[in-house]
Amino acid sequence: MSSIPLPLLEPQPRARRREHERARLAKRLRHQVGRAIADFGMIEDGDKVMVCLSGGKDSYTMLDILLQLREKAPVKFELVAVNLDQKQPDFPAHVLPDYLESVGVPFVILEQDTYSVVKRVVPEGKTMCSLCSRLRRGALYAHAEAEGFTKIALGHHRDDLVATFFLNLFFHAKLGGMPPKLRSDDGKHVVIRPLAYVREADIVAYAEARQFPIIPCNLCGSQENLQRKQVQKMMAQWERDTPGRIETIARALGDVRPSQLSDPKLFDFLALGTRGDGPLPDAHAWLAGTPHDDGDDA
Ligand code: SF4
Repeated sequence: MSSIPLPLLEPQPRARRREHERARLAKRLRHQVGRAIADFGMIEDGDKVMVCLSGGKDSYTMLDILLQLREKAPVKFELVAVNLDQKQPDFPAHVLPDYLESVGVPFVILEQDTYSVVKRVVPEGKTMCSLCSRLRRGALYAHAEAEGFTKIALGHHRDDLVATFFLNLFFHAKLGGMPPKLRSDDGKHVVIRPLAYVREADIVAYAEARQFPIIPCNLCGSQENLQRKQVQKMMAQWERDTPGRIETIARALGDVRPSQLSDPKLFDFLALGTRGDGPLPDAHAWLAGTPHDDGDDA
């Protein structure tokens, strides 16, 4: 039997293939952000969302995807980009306003010289990021309160959530991370993280494809926290050795089984399997070797 020659496929031009990959990436990001918004009830009708924009790849991506999603969203909500100019040396103050005007997003640039404060307070050679972030958060939250924003959107992504989980586990003996949605400590704000399901690698690729005018965060010359660096290095190694492991861990953060951990505040181990109604001896009684006397000798 003679075989029928298959028509030769023209190699797809590189530019078209790249365009196709970019469209798929954008679709994936919209899907993941939309899913996070739905899973955690991040945005509801009438919300006024303050999108915190640092000038880094994450916050540009967050704003860009939220703008796309809003076009077909099932609810109406407002988006306002807010940046805090912390007066770092050489901060290119025109970059964000130029960009935001070009995409037609309402925006506010706040100015507060937290840089000088941090420089004055933090000893030379120590990392300044923790105080710097606290001051930035304070300024942004105060603005949100003054302007009546109902949600504050931050650009942390899936890998940030996983890294924070390990930081807490390794250095603070705590099983907890960075939730996709939370109420601020003072109870005044609801903070959302729409990129909670998005891989950092995808954000890097997206930011490059969209050519966002990135402003580096390290203009101040501060070193990143050493512990965070260690964790990031470990995660990167895992991802190289066992691709998909970070995604597995991220999924595990959303599938917690309190009865299979050891926190009596989350699960009532004391009540589990008890046969009587009487009180159980407390730890002190056990340690002292003296059973609790419940007064019932009968
Ligand atoms: S790198 Fe500089 S600007 Fe960025 S968080 Fe750290 S101290 Fe603040």
